Amino acid sequence: MAIGETAYVNSVREQLLAGRTRLSEVVGQNQSERLLQLLEEVDSALHRIDHGTFGVCEICQGVVEEERLRENPLARVCLDCLTPKQQRALEYDLELAAQIQKGLLPPCDVAFPGWDISYHYQPAGVVGGDYCDLIPGNDGELNFVMADVSGKGVAAAMLSSNLRAIFRSLIPVGLSTAELMTRANRLFRQSALPTQYATLVFGKSTIAGNVEIVNAGHLPVMLASNTGTRLFESTSQPLGMFDDQLFTPARAGMHAGDTLVLYTDGMSEAENDDGAEYGLARLQKLIELHCGGCPNKLVDACKQHLDGFRGRRERFDDETLLAIQYAPTALHEHSHRAAVI
Ligand SMILES: [Zn+2]
Repeated sequence: MAIGETAYVNSVREQLLAGRTRLSEVVGQNQSERLLQLLEEVDSALHRIDHGTFGVCEICQGVVEEERLRENPLARVCLDCLTPKQQRALEYDLELAAQIQKGLLPPCDVAFPGWDISYHYQPAGVVGGDYCDLIPGNDGELNFVMADVSGKGVAAAMLSSNLRAIFRSLIPVGLSTAELMTRANRLFRQSALPTQYATLVFGKSTIAGNVEIVNAGHLPVMLASNTGTRLFESTSQPLGMFDDQLFTPARAGMHAGDTLVLYTDGMSEAENDDGAEYGLARLQKLIELHCGGCPNKLVDACKQHLDGFRGRRERFDDETLLAIQYAPTALHEHSHRAAVI
């Protein structure tokens, strides 16, 4: 057997059996050719598991790439043995997925009254499992989300777009931060595989600069101001781990010029040619050095510094960095002027 982990193969068998039950119910009502074919493929994968040939390429008898098999347990041939037509189809699918993922990011010139915002998003592969979002709430609130879905590639990208749908549909409901996270966790658990989870930060700020932040297993959020940096550490498990998780938001008041910085481990855990890690301390120092300027410059400075550190070393994880600066002046001037008029 190419993939020798018994526990892993057992979990694939369970997944396939559960999928088979659902599929046969649907086939009972609608015998489409595509569904019947899928059922056949599931049966064939189960057969391969029972006969010890799961993960063996049917053409060259070599090994089907482990990552691909984890994403698609129905894969029967290794990448080298795909026909040119199948390879093109795969590339086309990926390209399309990348385009869709790009379209789901906030626009580059995103503008929220009272806030100056900039971000950087660079998946390691064609598509990524990081999720970064800015969502307007009720009464001029700004909601922000940063998450890192476990795993890589298409499977992680699909779950990150699922997270986006969850948050975008829950936010307009107007729940408390704790309740919103509880519901998001439950919904996410329902759609993820048992081995998948997401570290995540959700935050909400009023136009007066009062911020609530929930950090679920993610790296610390930094609130940089001219008096120092406050860290918002994780206070709960990542999303998707347990059904009845409780989430407690941390609170802060922001002053004009204060900057919240959120990022994923693709930034802080990037490595250089010698295998040394970039590290949180370096990132924090850089943020403190540039937090007085506009977020655009801060994000650029972090990006450049990290690129310089990494050198020729390949990027192995998705990189996301989001800087949100409280800039109420323009807003106040505007409302003041409106009041005068
Ligand atoms: Zn092969």
